[in-house]
Amino acid sequence: MNPLNSRRNFIKGSTLGLTATSLLWSQMGNSLRKGISEEGPHSQASDLKITGVRSAYMRGHGTHLFIKIETNQGIIGYGEGMDAVSGSAGLVKTMGDQLINKNPLDVNRLVEDVLRSGFFHGAQSGMYVAVLTAIEFALWDLAGKALDLRVYRLLGGKFRDKIRIYCDTASSRESPEKMAELAREVQGQGFTAIKFDLDWVQDPNKWDHYNRTANNAEIERMVSQMAAVREAIGPHMDLCADMHGRYDTTTGIRVANALQPYNMMWLEEPIPAENLDAYREIREHTTTPICLGENHYLAHDFREALEKKACDIVMPDLHKCGGIAEGQRIAYLAHLYYVPMAPHMVASPLGAMGACHCCAAVPNFLCLEWHWISRWDTWNKFIEEDPLIENGYIAVSDKPGIGVTLIEDAVKEFAIEGIPFFE
Ligand code: MG
Repeated sequence: MNPLNSRRNFIKGSTLGLTATSLLWSQMGNSLRKGISEEGPHSQASDLKITGVRSAYMRGHGTHLFIKIETNQGIIGYGEGMDAVSGSAGLVKTMGDQLINKNPLDVNRLVEDVLRSGFFHGAQSGMYVAVLTAIEFALWDLAGKALDLRVYRLLGGKFRDKIRIYCDTASSRESPEKMAELAREVQGQGFTAIKFDLDWVQDPNKWDHYNRTANNAEIERMVSQMAAVREAIGPHMDLCADMHGRYDTTTGIRVANALQPYNMMWLEEPIPAENLDAYREIREHTTTPICLGENHYLAHDFREALEKKACDIVMPDLHKCGGIAEGQRIAYLAHLYYVPMAPHMVASPLGAMGACHCCAAVPNFLCLEWHWISRWDTWNKFIEEDPLIENGYIAVSDKPGIGVTLIEDAVKEFAIEGIPFFE
């Protein structure tokens, strides 16, 4: 028997003529009531089946993978994966074939099935997890639409109504004065946190482009940039700096120490992602908070980082680390260590709102990245809804599923040539 129909009939039947039950009914949460009573294409949720999994690729901030999951009841879910998704169309097909005729409401089970089936095919990280992430987003979107519930509700509810965004800004090659000017502009737009890149591969002061050691001139450049920004924005706006994993352990320690007077919210990925013991060494030598996670996958990677005390802040990229529910698991894992989560995010508004549901549904959310300030108008074009960011925040959507409507034609303008577009 369809459990939803069964429960709905039970509740409807029991309310007839029963004042107390009617009162109880009126007091039930709006979302739950709607989820049970509203008829729609989702009225046979237990018979919902996946009939198609399609992909489209866009060149935006790197490569974006969009997933569209179709069902036998006309409900469609959209998801987005980032970064580690280039050249993955064949993998989408392989994973999609596994999902055909499955009920999309079993989100966690379907994800676990695909992960287990890929044990020998790289399911521990990288492209495999990133593609599955895009599918996972689409499954949550679909499940929410089918049940007429917001994704945050499916995750257990929300701790906050709006998500604080930090603005990722200029290239590291800008002068301190230019960085300060940009920081003031961002502050004027309502953002309460800002991030700059400090790594500069082509820095003319470098002695050697393969050696990861930053010399005195490079470190002076980094420090003067952050000093100028801190002076421009005042003491209270949060300031972060990213080194994109390009340096060595000693440089990480030197830069973290040199930045201590500027009260950074964090220093991000001073060294490559793989060696968590080296991260711990940096962290043990500075009071500047150390952030990692953009290049780590699944809760397993974060468990190790937390157990080794390798970071002060975890930064999963929710569009490649395993998805919305995996992000929630990572956040709660970090919460056990009193460590906050500040997700990396370069996705379109669809992915951004999906990430917001996760950020809303965990206690230790700190802030969410946004990386499109130089193309803000373009970013706003990808969904039907009004621009998401207002005064440095995104209000969590109250529409079913992820809660934004992707405009496929807008994505198509930036589609990567030679790859089928949702075919
Ligand atoms: Mg980064």
